[in-house]
Amino acid sequence: KSKRAKRQEFEQMQAPSLGGVQVPRGDGNTAIRLRRGSSLADFADKIDANPASLVTVLFHLGEMATATQSLDEDTFGTLAAELGYVIEMVSAEDEDRELLEAFDIDLEGEEAGESDDDLAARPPVVTVMGHVDHGKTRLLDAIRNADVVSGEAGGITQHIGAYQVKTQVDGNERALTFIDTPGHEAFTAMRARGAQVTDIAILVVAADDGVMPQTVEALNHAQAAGVPIVVAVNKVDKDTANPAKIRQQLTEYNLVAEEYGGDTMFVDVSAKQNMGIDSLLEAVVLTADAALDLRANPNKDARGVAIEANLDKGRGAVATVLVQSGTLHVGDAIVAGTAHGRVRAMFDEHGNTLKAAGPARPVMVLGLTSVPRAGDGFLVAPDDRTARQIAEKREAAERAALLAKRRKRISLEDFTQALEQGKVETLNLVLKGDVSGAVEALEDALLKINVGDEVDLRIIHRGVGAITQNDVNLATVDNAIIIGFNVKTAERVAELADREGIDIRYYSIIYKAIEDVEAALKGMLKPEYEEVQLGTAEIREVFRSSKFGNIAGSIVRSGEIRRNSKARVLRDGVVLGDNLTIDSLKRFKDDATEVREGFECGIGLGSFNDLQVGDTIETWEMREKPRS
Ligand code: GDP
Repeated sequence: KSKRAKRQEFEQMQAPSLGGVQVPRGDGNTAIRLRRGSSLADFADKIDANPASLVTVLFHLGEMATATQSLDEDTFGTLAAELGYVIEMVSAEDEDRELLEAFDIDLEGEEAGESDDDLAARPPVVTVMGHVDHGKTRLLDAIRNADVVSGEAGGITQHIGAYQVKTQVDGNERALTFIDTPGHEAFTAMRARGAQVTDIAILVVAADDGVMPQTVEALNHAQAAGVPIVVAVNKVDKDTANPAKIRQQLTEYNLVAEEYGGDTMFVDVSAKQNMGIDSLLEAVVLTADAALDLRANPNKDARGVAIEANLDKGRGAVATVLVQSGTLHVGDAIVAGTAHGRVRAMFDEHGNTLKAAGPARPVMVLGLTSVPRAGDGFLVAPDDRTARQIAEKREAAERAALLAKRRKRISLEDFTQALEQGKVETLNLVLKGDVSGAVEALEDALLKINVGDEVDLRIIHRGVGAITQNDVNLATVDNAIIIGFNVKTAERVAELADREGIDIRYYSIIYKAIEDVEAALKGMLKPEYEEVQLGTAEIREVFRSSKFGNIAGSIVRSGEIRRNSKARVLRDGVVLGDNLTIDSLKRFKDDATEVREGFECGIGLGSFNDLQVGDTIETWEMREKPRS
């Protein structure tokens, strides 16, 4: 090769950022649509490039990836910007819509020519929220029991995740559906899935306690979702109750009581004494009538949301779904998230079997092949095969998206550096719970823990049901901790975990789990040290000793000087010697371990001899900084 050719080759190798590869470039605005979980190969396909060349370009941008690895939006964004393209990630919703359209499933009911006449009034769906201990659970029980008193068949209600009650309003019997998981965590987790389940929120505020942090959080969530609020002022049976104060406090949050000229209904209740429950239900119905147009077409294939699901030993996957439109029938082929199956049987909250369930009716459904997650949408498919295919396609899309998210994003320099410094630390978790709602809520809360950038929390697997061998295997591979919420380990699994050294922790209270994980994360953080000044001394005289070197005859000006502590010497504010050690310390002729402020002493700094009268000796030590 000629010198010139070699030189050219070398220059090409040195070409900035692109590594000298040829890639078709965009004009800076050329849009590229990518699905979640796409890889470089997918990108290459869209711009007619060689996937390997994109690997090279990305490498030169400081990131390493294989051609087929799922990447996240940020990574694509960086790459696209370099090459003159703009990335548009297809949203999960759009992706799913496209998927369903491909199966000829009409999402809006428009094609069927649905008109106003097809819509019938449906009950409101209500969620109870509020601060802990303000009586949410008790209120849900009182409402459920109020209905039993009114003569509902069955009497005993079972917890299936939601229930329906009836009440009299203006002489008409009106039904209301209650989501039986109190609190805004579940509400938010479902909303994060894109499921808008709740029509109206009951905000419970204890009259003896007042507006508390979670009260505000709950009302923020409801207002953000555009959900009207009815305030239940609870515990009015207590002597210390001050219902007027609650009304006054909440005006600050735009909840002005009707009696004060606002449009929010406040109802005084006592969940404990079953007082005011009817008025509360009436207020919910009236608020719904005034603020919302709750109608749905009952005469079509059902569509709705999974509220709760679990794996039952005898019955398999059991899911409570809320029908939002259409009517669900026994025998329907359904898809719920990535679960599918045929409705084998349906039960209401009283354990009665149902053949059909219309809008706003919660039903427990048997027959799914796997457990959906809380907030997963469900729909009726034309047949079993379609149901299965939709479920499988969704699962594949989800896996790809998850892979993209899971990939650690770190630049090459960061990576080596971080490794060297031992800075990258990841806490891997496997979450198992009895119901999907709890798992969702837990995951959500855990991912919100903020401990800075140095520690990473990854949830490598989550699921419903007992902790299985598979979970332990996963934990072994990824060095994870398993968190079991209201679940046990399957037989012999504990043994296996023990053998593999896998930590399994059991909880029945979500915030306990969160607390522990937070502590673990903080414990994993490398301790941070800070310099703490111990004392200063001023040099008054310098004694020269052939045996000990120079000795600084000093007076301690602040704190104390301790033998063996770290020291530095300053002259006119300039550091002359740092990281020295107080080698010897004497009071008159005697060795001292410490000398306090105001006292004179002789200080020897080992071999450091550059001492002058007027210099300052400062001593310090490194202390571990507590984490807040
Ligand atoms: P949650 O955390 O909001 O679900 O609150 P709970 O429903 O568990 O209630 C918390 C505590 O308040 C329990 O000890 C209840 O018995 C009590 N409580 C709930 N409602 C009332 C009420 O109307 N009056 C009184 N005196 N106590 C109540």
